[in-house]
Amino acid sequence: MRKFLRNPLTVVGCLLFGGIVLLALLAPVLPLADPNETNLRDRLLPPGSDGFLLGTDTLGRDILSRLVWGTRISLAVAAAATLIAAFIGSFIGLCAGFFRGWVDTLLMRGIDMVLAFPYLILALAIVAVLGPGLLNALIAIAVVNIPFFARSVRGTALSVSAMPFVEAARIGGQPRLRILFAGVFPNVLPVIVIAMSTTLGWMILETAGLSFLGLGAQPPQADLGSMLADGRKVMLVHPHVGLLPGVCILILVIGINLIGDGLRDWLDPRLEGGAHSAPGAATNVEPSGREESADTEEGALVDVRGLEIAFGEGAEALRAVRGVSFSLKAGECLGIVGESGSGKSVTAMALARLVASPPGRVTAGAIHVGGIDVLSASEAELRGIRGARVGYVFQNPFDSLHPLIPVGKQLAEAVRAHGGAALKGSELRGRVIGLLGQVGIPDPAKACRAYPHQFSGGQCQRIAIAMALANEPAVLVADEPTTALDVTVQKHVLELLAEIRRERGLAMVFISHDLGVVRAVADKVIVMRAGEVVESGAVEAVLRHPRHEYTRRLIASIPRLGAGPDQDLGIVGKDPGGKGDAQ
Ligand code: ADP
Ligand code: MG
Repeated sequence: MRKFLRNPLTVVGCLLFGGIVLLALLAPVLPLADPNETNLRDRLLPPGSDGFLLGTDTLGRDILSRLVWGTRISLAVAAAATLIAAFIGSFIGLCAGFFRGWVDTLLMRGIDMVLAFPYLILALAIVAVLGPGLLNALIAIAVVNIPFFARSVRGTALSVSAMPFVEAARIGGQPRLRILFAGVFPNVLPVIVIAMSTTLGWMILETAGLSFLGLGAQPPQADLGSMLADGRKVMLVHPHVGLLPGVCILILVIGINLIGDGLRDWLDPRLEGGAHSAPGAATNVEPSGREESADTEEGALVDVRGLEIAFGEGAEALRAVRGVSFSLKAGECLGIVGESGSGKSVTAMALARLVASPPGRVTAGAIHVGGIDVLSASEAELRGIRGARVGYVFQNPFDSLHPLIPVGKQLAEAVRAHGGAALKGSELRGRVIGLLGQVGIPDPAKACRAYPHQFSGGQCQRIAIAMALANEPAVLVADEPTTALDVTVQKHVLELLAEIRRERGLAMVFISHDLGVVRAVADKVIVMRAGEVVESGAVEAVLRHPRHEYTRRLIASIPRLGAGPDQDLGIVGKDPGGKGDAQ
């Protein structure tokens, strides 16, 4: 509930819609005049008249009473039509998406036939055939909205049906209907609920539209549309008669849409990063946590002191990184090891304030890169750090490259982003080819024109490294750069990184969960667990004399060729942390 009401606009929507629904529900017990009682002596009284709070209409009927009863009818018709359309449409969509083949073709061509007519015209035609009246208007509106549900539900059902868990259930021989209702349906439900919330507002407008044209509610019965039509005749001289139902429709539809938005954010957590909580350009830093006078180590290129990073707010906050400190000189390589989720990536991203915020924020500590106080740097200063002073290489090379742009162009973009903006034509091309050559891509001139999918994983990682090096950064952060690659390619990429470091005197932060790999490239190492540094020091010293039990088990888990099945991989047994999740 708290999550649902977190967005103030949702609260406003609930208040607007809830208030109107409450009034409409209470209509029979409220002390209201008879909505259909005409009183020709009191015609067209303005709002606030004696006995008529909102005035009277052309036949002297009490507008307040008609408004409350009319809203009740409009809401009931719209809600009923939404339920009918949602039920039939979703069922069609679910079957089409799940069974595919001829079922899909048959159902969807039927839906296409309904979609072939402009939908208001279709609604008018249906009412014309069935005859005017509220019930027929309801049927017409429900029918024209079925395709909307069928289409959106089919799309989702198609993709859910192709998911491995559904395939597994099929292969496992579970009955198809059971898979449909127990496996696919719950995953489609959020889509249906979201679609219903958006449709309800539309349905109110459509009911009002049909009634406005005289095809829905019949006199003397009031609904919002027919009241609007009554008011239209005297719009210029007595605007309140038409304005009041108009405002009522407006508030109702706005309220429903705001609730719909809130519902969508709540049911579909993937959308949370949307309108209301899109991460900013830099990680937020809590003012209380900033250490003004943090002294940096002499000659350190990167210096991190007591870094703390948390995700989320209040009691649910996750303290992902706690009290991490390290420093790095030019030409040095720091390895960060630890199990997945121990805070390695978050620490590395924090160096350029790249941790998504919200939900992340730096709650304490100090970071200096090349003399710049990162935590109090302006956005322009940060841009000067990212890519130019600190280059990043990530685990999955395909994630760092745009699939639809030739790699040469992407590299050129990286070069031009900093300093190289003046470079043009052949000069820029020469630079890009040079970069590709440096990372060992064969025939760089030709490779420039190729797309990422035309390279192997290892080659893509080389290109990603070239991109990170494009602006000759002083620090290279490699976040599990070899984890996604197979072992032989891993070796080549590691050699490449080591060579680059030697040649350029780069400072490097090398992240891995594999102590064996870290040993091959790093000078010193910090071992992280659950956000904290449990051990740090020179690589060889840590490997030879691990002080912490967790490090010992990490070392034990490096497989040794020829050690046979008896090798203790540290999987079983005594766990000092009590979690048993080290592997
Ligand atoms: P790893 O050591 O495997 O690189 P990370 O540094 O990525 O681990 O993550 C450390 C912790 O921070 C994890 O518990 C993770 O769930 C959490 N975390 C990372 N990114 C986010 C995020 N955007 N929102 C919430 N929690 C996050
Ligand atoms: Mg990681």
